[in-house]
Amino acid sequence: MRLVAGNWKMNGDRALARDLVSGLAAKAAETPPACALAVCPPAFLLDAVAAAASPAIALGAQDCSDEAGPGAFTGEISASQLAEAGCRYVIVGHSERRQRHGETSALVQAKAARVMEAGLVPIICVGETLETREAGDAQSFVTGQLRDSLPLELAAKASENGEGPALVVAYEPVWAIGTGRSATTDDIAEMHTALAELLGPLRARTPLLYGGSVKPGNAAEIFATAEVDGALVGGASLTLDAFWGIATAA
Ligand code: PEP
Repeated sequence: MRLVAGNWKMNGDRALARDLVSGLAAKAAETPPACALAVCPPAFLLDAVAAAASPAIALGAQDCSDEAGPGAFTGEISASQLAEAGCRYVIVGHSERRQRHGETSALVQAKAARVMEAGLVPIICVGETLETREAGDAQSFVTGQLRDSLPLELAAKASENGEGPALVVAYEPVWAIGTGRSATTDDIAEMHTALAELLGPLRARTPLLYGGSVKPGNAAEIFATAEVDGALVGGASLTLDAFWGIATAA
C-alpha cells in the first residue's frame, strides 16, 4: 500500500490540527483511501493531531534526538517519548535540518537507530542540491547519503520481523522542496531505481517516497513512476483539499 505523509514543518496551530485532521478523518471514513496516511505536525501539536485523527491516520514526528535518553538534553525529544505520544513514524535527515542545523548522515543514522530501537519507523530523507544535480553527481551523492544514513543492522533485523514498513526512505531533491518545481518522472524513476538497488533485500519492507512540490495535479503521474511507493508532502499537506487530492491519486 502506498504511503502519503504530510510534513507540516513549523506550521500550524491547534485550530488547524483539529479542523484539518478531523476533516481528513471524516473523508477517510466516507471513502477509505487506497493509501496509508500519516500526518507529521510540530511536536507541540502531536496530542491535538492524535485527538482528531482516526485509525486511518498515523501520527509522525519531524525529528528526534540521537540520544536514547532520558537525560540532560535541553530542547530535544527522544524517540521513546515520541512513541509515548502515539507516533508511528519519525522523519529524520530532512534537508532543512541537514542544511540549517548541519546534520550529517552519521547523525541521521544515529537518529534513525534510536527511532527503530523505540519500535517506530524512521522516514530517512535524502536529496541533492541543484548544484550537485547540475554537476551530474546526483545519483552518487544521494545513494552515498542513504548508505551513510541507514542503520543497516537494525534495518535488517526490523525487516525480518513483523509486517508493514520497517523503514521508509524519502527522496527529496533539495531544489524541488517548496519551490513549486518537481523533479521529472524520469529523474525520479532513475533515482528511485538506484535507491532500490542499494536497499537490496531491505527494499521489500522499505517504501520509497518522493518529496518535492507534490500537488494534486502531479501526484498521479508521480505515483505511476517506477519504484515510487508514495509521497512526503510539505506545503500541500497544510490544506485539506490538497492533501486529500494527493491521497486519492495514490
Ligand atoms: C518537504 O519539505 O518534505 C516537502 C516535500 O515540501 P514541499 O512539498 O512543500 O515541496
